[in-house]
Amino acid sequence: MAAPIPLTLVEAPPADRWQRRLTDLRISVVDRCNFRCPYCLPEDQYPEHHAFLDKQARLSFEEIERLARVFAGLGVRKLRLTGGEPLLRRDLPLLVSWLAQIPGIDDIALTTNGTLLPRLAAPLRQAGLGRITLSVDSLDPVIYRQLSGHRGEVAEVLAAIAAAEENGFGALKINSVVMRDINDAGVLDLVAHFRGTPHVLRFIEYMDVGTLNGWQRDRVVPTAELLARITARWPLEPVARLTRHDVAERYRFIDGGGEIGFISSVSAPFCGDCTRARLSADGKLYTCLFASEGYDLRALLRGGADDASLAAAIAQRWQARDDRYSERRAELRASGNDSRVEMFAIGG
Ligand code: SAM
Ligand code: SF4
Ligand code: SF4
Repeated sequence: MAAPIPLTLVEAPPADRWQRRLTDLRISVVDRCNFRCPYCLPEDQYPEHHAFLDKQARLSFEEIERLARVFAGLGVRKLRLTGGEPLLRRDLPLLVSWLAQIPGIDDIALTTNGTLLPRLAAPLRQAGLGRITLSVDSLDPVIYRQLSGHRGEVAEVLAAIAAAEENGFGALKINSVVMRDINDAGVLDLVAHFRGTPHVLRFIEYMDVGTLNGWQRDRVVPTAELLARITARWPLEPVARLTRHDVAERYRFIDGGGEIGFISSVSAPFCGDCTRARLSADGKLYTCLFASEGYDLRALLRGGADDASLAAAIAQRWQARDDRYSERRAELRASGNDSRVEMFAIGG
């Protein structure tokens, strides 16, 4: 790790054109994945010879740590490691241990499909990883396998949950993307499985991220419909969001069975509270999940920019930010603008 150049922690992070402050950074550590989920990296679009980023193109751990330190200096407090499948990046616990030492960073989380977690949960915990979000779209072995692009087994993700529990990760977030006529029939089974555990299941509306997942609006199951189905079986009541920047609407089971969440980016967009920046594995800064272009921080890094120049470039980019894709979805889709970065390239 290079000797860090200390940055003074700022009082207030930069604000964009809608007064949204930069407080969270999602870091994609690799664009590869061992799954081919049809809503993200469909197998017919990404055959085995698809050219993912090579080692030279990806940011090194030193480069990621340095950028994270610069973001922290600007006011970022939360980091989330994602991908692709982040656990495919070799020595990830080493990166976590570096990130955990950055002044100002008070939360490091990981989003994963879990296949490699049984091996990595212990070193990740020791390295300082705070929280894990696991993706579980179905408990039905056939449907789970189908939604992994025929790469994953439901037994593996259950083993991943057990490994996280054994290594002190406590309450997990369990993400479940719901697609009509594909896995929506299994929603109540998922609820039944996670009710009464400390884990919080969150149903995510299927989104039109990227351009290759063949998104059709009628495959989206709106939160209101899921809420009605779940409430009919187990009555729910709303819970106040912990912070404005929580993307999930929270509910609790009236009988004490714990909590559940909904991420309604299609039916109830939350752009007004979006304080997240995203860094792709090749070092591009994206200010929206649906952006078409990123800002090349790798070129600045490798061109010799010092930390102050990097911070100024990031702040400027954030201050110019006007993104509100989900709130403007209908208008932007109708305009024929069809270039959006793929989800596996910048993480969820
Ligand atoms: N590979 C890891 C995983 O699946 O957990 C991390 C990266 S993945 C891109 C992050 C999250 O994005 C996952 O929870 C996944 O379900 C979600 N996701 C991917 N494509 C999506 C889509 N089209 N709509 C909604 N969520 C999506
Ligand atoms: Fe891989 Fe995650 Fe995308 Fe599925 S959602 S293909 S596990 S990156
Ligand atoms: Fe944030 Fe873009 Fe999603 Fe809106 S559409 S919540 S601006 S990432």
